[in-house]
Amino acid sequence: MRFYKFLNESTLQREDIINIPFLSYDSRMRTEAEYFSLDKIKVGKSFFELPDKEAQLHVLLHEIGHYVSDITLNKGIIWEWSDKGYFVGDFNGRKVEGLNGHTVPGEFVSEAFAVYLLEPDFLRQYYNEFFQSFSEEIKSSEYKEAIAKAKEILKQFQ
Ligand SMILES: [Zn+2]
Repeated sequence: MRFYKFLNESTLQREDIINIPFLSYDSRMRTEAEYFSLDKIKVGKSFFELPDKEAQLHVLLHEIGHYVSDITLNKGIIWEWSDKGYFVGDFNGRKVEGLNGHTVPGEFVSEAFAVYLLEPDFLRQYYNEFFQSFSEEIKSSEYKEAIAKAKEILKQFQ
């Protein structure tokens, strides 16, 4: 099952995020978005220049993924995954370091959270060992606030 069934077409605009309490706009930011906490995510100018809503949703879920990756860092499980080589994708024998260009472990796991929700089949196919372990790990109640926030974000897009 996909995390979402459809997204309406227009991208989120600056005036749309005024009513979303955990999002704020910072014109000085050079990146699309930055995570401070589950209740504080900032977006910059380039967030509104993303090509479509799915791209915007992906960026916000990546930021929420930082909550998840921080926990895996604290628990040390991220280093187990790294040591086992789970952060290297296997594209039919072609090895690719990282995920969507994210090679730092904390960034890999944040990105993986977004991909896990949006394109789980991609993760299952090319990062299978990681996918299996992550699927188990994310069931832990430690992550439930991140899942709840991800669902809250999705609501803003439908
Ligand atoms: Zn990140």
